[in-house]
Amino acid sequence: MTSPTTSVPAVTLNDGHTIPQLGFGVFQVPAEETYDAVTAALQAGYRSIDTAKAYGNEAAVGRAIADSGLPRGELFVTTKLWNDDHGHDSALQACDASLAELGLDYLDLYLIHWPTPERDRYVASYRAFEELQAAGKVRSIGVSNFTIDHLTRLMDETSVVPVVNQVELHPNFTQKELRAFHKEHGIVTEAWSPLAQGDLLADPALVAIGEAHGKTAAQVVLRWHVQLGNVAIPKSVTPERIAANIDVFDFELTGDEMVTIDTMGNGERRGPDPDTFNG
Ligand code: NDP
Repeated sequence: MTSPTTSVPAVTLNDGHTIPQLGFGVFQVPAEETYDAVTAALQAGYRSIDTAKAYGNEAAVGRAIADSGLPRGELFVTTKLWNDDHGHDSALQACDASLAELGLDYLDLYLIHWPTPERDRYVASYRAFEELQAAGKVRSIGVSNFTIDHLTRLMDETSVVPVVNQVELHPNFTQKELRAFHKEHGIVTEAWSPLAQGDLLADPALVAIGEAHGKTAAQVVLRWHVQLGNVAIPKSVTPERIAANIDVFDFELTGDEMVTIDTMGNGERRGPDPDTFNG
């Protein structure tokens, strides 16, 4: 594999490990398309791949990683504990199953996918995560879709502060309060659906900002994430978009442009509400 031309900054996690600020997400990528998408991403210079048991494509991610020939140490692989696997013993088993699917002997990051408050088992799951980390099966542990209340309880009842909280975050849903809480506690904000699943990209304000920089609206939104300090994991199965989405480190949005993007949305989420999602 050729060397990437794009250099992605590393963000330091509260446990001392680092995560690339831009990664590649594979939600809703069918297993049979995942190998090609991940291969294109690795060729374009992505070194961080975000999958989940629930996506059904861990094995294809693993094959693309293995065939890339890239040294394991240059890659950052995230997967997630699915809701049905909550609980101490089942979380331990689920991690082993994900490692086997991926063909890896450790994960860089293991996340609780959703808190699913009705199950009331995320603390038990996270205690298993602490054991997985101590055993070396997982380098870093974190959560996804946790609210301030869920994070507060987790930090009160366990001993390892999550390194990241991966949450829905895009110009329509900016998570200002949660980001401030993360900052206070040393938790990195990781944005899922960073492009709002593509829906905002025809917005005239974003297009105009892009034109001022010779960039697309998608690149403007991803640059906005970068300048906020977010980690972002855009998904695409389109090779040109995959390459364009990582090409956001050679321009800078002005303060006014950042404010325009901060304030353009209506505050509506696209995905489920973590307080009520128990699927
Ligand atoms: P994104 O915000 O990344 O948007 C993906 C969509 O935008 C696709 O339809 C894609 O089309 C399109 N797109 C991508 N790049 C461009 C571009 N440059 N120009 C125009 N359109 C573009 O949505 P996701 O929901 O996939 O989120 C990203 C990742 O976040 C997921 O893949 C997953 O890893 C993670 N995630 C995590 C969740 C969680 O609960 N923890 C929930 C949801 C997502 P196409 O592919 O056809 O090119």
